[in-house]
Amino acid sequence: MKQKSILSLDNHFSFSGLSTFKTCKEQFKIVYIDGLRKEQESIEAYMGKCVHETLEWLYNPQNRAKPYITFDRICRTYDEIWVENWHDKIHIPNYRCTTDELYTTGKRCLSNYYNKYGPIFSEKVVETELLLEFTIDGKYLFKGVIDRLDQPSKGKFVIHDYKTGKRTKMQKAAQKDLQLAMYQIAIEQHFEQVDEVVLKWHYLRKGIEVCVKHSESDILNIKKQLVEKVDEIIITSNNLSNFYPKESRLCDWCFLWEECSAKSGSNPAMKAK
Ligand code: SF4
Repeated sequence: MKQKSILSLDNHFSFSGLSTFKTCKEQFKIVYIDGLRKEQESIEAYMGKCVHETLEWLYNPQNRAKPYITFDRICRTYDEIWVENWHDKIHIPNYRCTTDELYTTGKRCLSNYYNKYGPIFSEKVVETELLLEFTIDGKYLFKGVIDRLDQPSKGKFVIHDYKTGKRTKMQKAAQKDLQLAMYQIAIEQHFEQVDEVVLKWHYLRKGIEVCVKHSESDILNIKKQLVEKVDEIIITSNNLSNFYPKESRLCDWCFLWEECSAKSGSNPAMKAK
């Protein structure tokens, strides 16, 4: 008898879910089917969250109305966020860096951003950390959170995504990227007049920006790819044994070792201090 899929088209799929499925199916099962969330996180992820939160603060309505903002003020906010949110489940995977180094990298990200855009932050922001849901073909459900959405003029939108990691995507790779293209599809469904959408990646460590504008045929092709990925996940969920572990260097940043069938013990990363 054919087993019923655990996942169906009633589920909302996110970009992080789709990419986790690609990197390790067992991790996908533990997080997105079993619903397990761990408090542990890497120091890189923690720094990324602090930088994102600082930039969210920077674009709040009060700050956007100010004549200027000093870099010292931004640093103070970053420090407050860093200290207030610090917890004892932050780890340093692979002994690659120290807490001080990552904290300083976060500041460098903000400094690169400030040098490019400061001291006035009066952009026409629609929303920061904007959660959007959308459909493809009226039946495939997706959701995602946009770091920042601007509307510089009627019908024109800019989707901003902040990256604090080492890797940068060049123009050609950004053109094929699904994450921000998904957000474009969401914007086109949620706003009445959408004439132009610019996708903008901010690679904050290096102060590099990459922009992409998709044609209608690009978006059609991306929709097709998203549908294929969801179909593959649903078919895979016919049988839980399909969710096998795929070990890689990314295991160092995974805190599901106790649950993973390929590992024993817990992730050996040392606690950050
Ligand atoms: S430890 Fe590695 S193989 Fe196991 S779930 Fe995490 S990423 Fe997958």
